[in-house]
Amino acid sequence: MEKTIFEKIVDGEIPCAKVYEDDSTLAFLDINPNSKGHTLLIPKKLYKDIYQLDENISAIMMKNVVKISKAIKKGLVCDGINIVMNNESSAGQIIFHAHIHIIPRYKNDGGDWNKKKNYSELEKEEIIKKITENL
Ligand code: 5GP
Repeated sequence: MEKTIFEKIVDGEIPCAKVYEDDSTLAFLDINPNSKGHTLLIPKKLYKDIYQLDENISAIMMKNVVKISKAIKKGLVCDGINIVMNNESSAGQIIFHAHIHIIPRYKNDGGDWNKKKNYSELEKEEIIKKITENL
């Protein structure tokens, strides 16, 4: 079976802007972010969606979502954070490798918060530094 994009990222075949890693999970910046610092947390092993997650990996993922959210809040000084998980195409899932979106939000970003943003490699590096030094 063809690897998912996220399996290729885990295997180092596709680069990513890494935010956090442990034995069973990896977090990196979304390539097409809703806001600067938009991070995806994935299990390294392939689970297609939320229905396939077992208690062990779901507990680790939630622990890491909390950890990364606190680091984003502190490092980026955002005004809020959305935690989103899309499951099945009807709910907007595009990559069929379970992942949780951690999306920093700002006061007055309401009108366009879900429009995709761009940022330079340098900006990405600065954002990663701000997050990782607060992990
Ligand atoms: P979904 O709609 O499946 O929840 O979201 C998939 C997310 O993965 C999208 O926000 C998309 O921008 C992101 N994405 C897709 N391909 C890549 C990639 O190659 N690298 C990174 N960092 N993010 C990706």
